[in-house]
Amino acid sequence: MKVCKFGGSSMASAETIRRVAEIIRSDADRRYVVVSAPGKRFSADIKITDSLLTAYHESRKGGSLKELIAPIRERFEGIAHDLGVEDKVDLAALFKEIEAGIAASPIPDFAAAQGERLSAMLLAAFLGCAFIDAKEIIRFADNGQFNAEYTNDVARKRLAAEGSLVVIPGFYGSTSAGQIRTFSRGGSDVTGAIIARAVKADLYENWTDVNGFLTADPRIVDQPKPIPELSYRELRELSYMGANVLHPESIFPVRKANIPINIRNTFEPNNPGTMILPGVLQHDRLITGIAGKKGFVSILIEKSMMNNEIGFTRKLLSVLENLNMSFEHLPSGIDTMTLIIADTEIGGKLQELVGGIREAVSPDRLEIQSDLALIATVGHGMAYKPGTASRLFTALSRVGVNIKMIDQGSSELNIIVAVAGEDYEKAINAIYEEFIN
Ligand code: ASP
Repeated sequence: MKVCKFGGSSMASAETIRRVAEIIRSDADRRYVVVSAPGKRFSADIKITDSLLTAYHESRKGGSLKELIAPIRERFEGIAHDLGVEDKVDLAALFKEIEAGIAASPIPDFAAAQGERLSAMLLAAFLGCAFIDAKEIIRFADNGQFNAEYTNDVARKRLAAEGSLVVIPGFYGSTSAGQIRTFSRGGSDVTGAIIARAVKADLYENWTDVNGFLTADPRIVDQPKPIPELSYRELRELSYMGANVLHPESIFPVRKANIPINIRNTFEPNNPGTMILPGVLQHDRLITGIAGKKGFVSILIEKSMMNNEIGFTRKLLSVLENLNMSFEHLPSGIDTMTLIIADTEIGGKLQELVGGIREAVSPDRLEIQSDLALIATVGHGMAYKPGTASRLFTALSRVGVNIKMIDQGSSELNIIVAVAGEDYEKAINAIYEEFIN
């Protein structure tokens, strides 16, 4: 039995929803369906979730909620009409309830969730099957933390009692008091994984608008090769480092139950896509893929006899903890340590951070370098093959890229390098040419 999740572009219009229905009907094993809100129909289009969030925030600044949600309602009415389900889903009543709900909500989550809710209702009506509201089975704690074990228990029981086909909205759930909470953006992938675990699916199919994972970002490398198979851990590394086909947190529920994930393309349903499997894949493949992100800062901290100073790292990291900031890497030498932190974590607090570090550890020297990029070269194969790092560094030196930091995880699953932001594209192409092309 399979759980299928369809993303925003698959749910964007009546036409794409018909394709979704065809995919579901073509395989009787596809029994649990999780959907996103309607996404973009063309590149300048606006995702329903974004329109809902704008409606929430603008109404808080005094905008008319009725006017703000009118285009959202029109879009859903258009889809319902084109699918011929306008008599089965009472959108007028639902939008009355949504308007009141958004007006009464102290947080944006209720508003954000409505796209998924309506999209699931329309698909269920079109398929003539059951709809289960995610608020009944996906549980969050009052502080917004997802409660995995409680959810698994409730969802398992509730879904086992259901008939042959069920549609469930992705992205949200509720607290025990009934308040709607969402995952982070793109979180319908996570819902799909949670449902797959709860029903002990044989496969979690994630239907999107690309043919699975590629070995590099197609905006940087010309026609990168696809990745037919990937391990959970390789997936985690690549998606954390920016290969954004799947929400990085989707891996956790399915990993607990050893369920493979198959990334598929709604618009090319015959393409096998990428299969993501537990364990270490036995391949002669050295490198599985390359991913990276721009927008990092490094802070070099130098202090004589740092290595002898007990508690030095704790003092340094407590500065970050107090500022509620996480870091990416912390390579160290005898008298030096370098913090690598994402710009998005630092926000406007660089001065505060630097002041805190000076006060906490009194460095002899502190040097800041901004506009760095991190590049992860990922693959289980490198653990068995001496010389991988040397080939990587040679490839970068051939194109004149200076490496600012190197971090090879102890699992030998990846080698991460930091380079200047302006060298990012050049570096990725050089690594791709060396290992993949
Ligand atoms: N609709 C939500 C978003 O745009 C969640 C999702 O599509 O997975 O982020």
